Amino acid sequence: MGTYVVTGSASGMGRAVAERLRADGHTVIGVDIQAADVVADLSTPAGRRTAVDAVLSTCGGRLDGAVLAAGLGPTPGKDQPSRIIQVNFFGVIELLQAWRPALAAAERAKVVVFSSNSTTTIPAIPGRAIRAMLDGDGEKAVRILRIFGRAAASMAYGASKIAVSRWVRRNAVTRDWAGAGIRLNAIAPGAILTPLLEKQLSTPAEAKTIHSFPVPIGGFGDAGQLADWVVFMLSDAADFLCGSVLFVDGGSDAYFRADDWPGSLPARRLAPYLWKFKRFKSFS
Ligand code: NAD
Repeated sequence: MGTYVVTGSASGMGRAVAERLRADGHTVIGVDIQAADVVADLSTPAGRRTAVDAVLSTCGGRLDGAVLAAGLGPTPGKDQPSRIIQVNFFGVIELLQAWRPALAAAERAKVVVFSSNSTTTIPAIPGRAIRAMLDGDGEKAVRILRIFGRAAASMAYGASKIAVSRWVRRNAVTRDWAGAGIRLNAIAPGAILTPLLEKQLSTPAEAKTIHSFPVPIGGFGDAGQLADWVVFMLSDAADFLCGSVLFVDGGSDAYFRADDWPGSLPARRLAPYLWKFKRFKSFS
């Protein structure tokens, strides 16, 4: 049996994952702003430090897996763009960077980060805001997103989930992660009926948008179904899964973007291997 850390363990999908893991006999260290083993506010650097330290001292230097589910939705509000970026992006990557040695100590650890199908279904998210986050400058990202006015929270949400997915893909294939035996992947849910979505549905204008949004199979997803996917991504069956973003969204991404996949690979990236100038050495 393993030791897993789950952020966002007090509600919705994080809670469902924690319950599944505990039912399977694993030890779960829950992290949340409320009702958790480690209570910490991931929207602040101090809160993130508390979460990092408390988990490291509880897990005894070894983590078999981590699930990063704590997150805010795209609900509008004055400081929401900043909070969304702090929790959804920095509240994932700063924790994972600090926990990486403990994950490496387990040798076959698995990490699942919660992305969203908003990454591919919100149009015109500014690339500059995504790049600012990846450069570590959350305040610059907020300044860029401010021009969207009431839609800034929604844009911040999409941008934070693209940035965190890119961070996952960039790092998953490196010596520090793949080379340390850690499988780093993301899951991109569509509309899942959790307290986060219920809050959005309680606002008539947001509810109207959500109900009119194309979901080919209809309805909403269920937190338990998503937890099953996450538990699978934490299992030995996922040993060959590395840097993937798995969409579980009732078909919305495919509906809008069937022909956008696959994006073509620039020849300059493959050419050195084809012409044998370079030989790729795997990390195993
Ligand atoms: P939820 O609101 O039910 O759970 C999110 C949890 O994160 C809560 O327990 C909350 O307390 C915690 N949290 C929020 N801010 C925090 C902070 N500052 N510090 C620590 N913990 C904090 O939401 P959910 O629907 O289960 O969402 C889980 C993840 O999935 C989120 O990252 C969300 O963005 C993502 N997501 C949700 C949906 C959806 O439709 N529900 C769709 C796509 C992606």
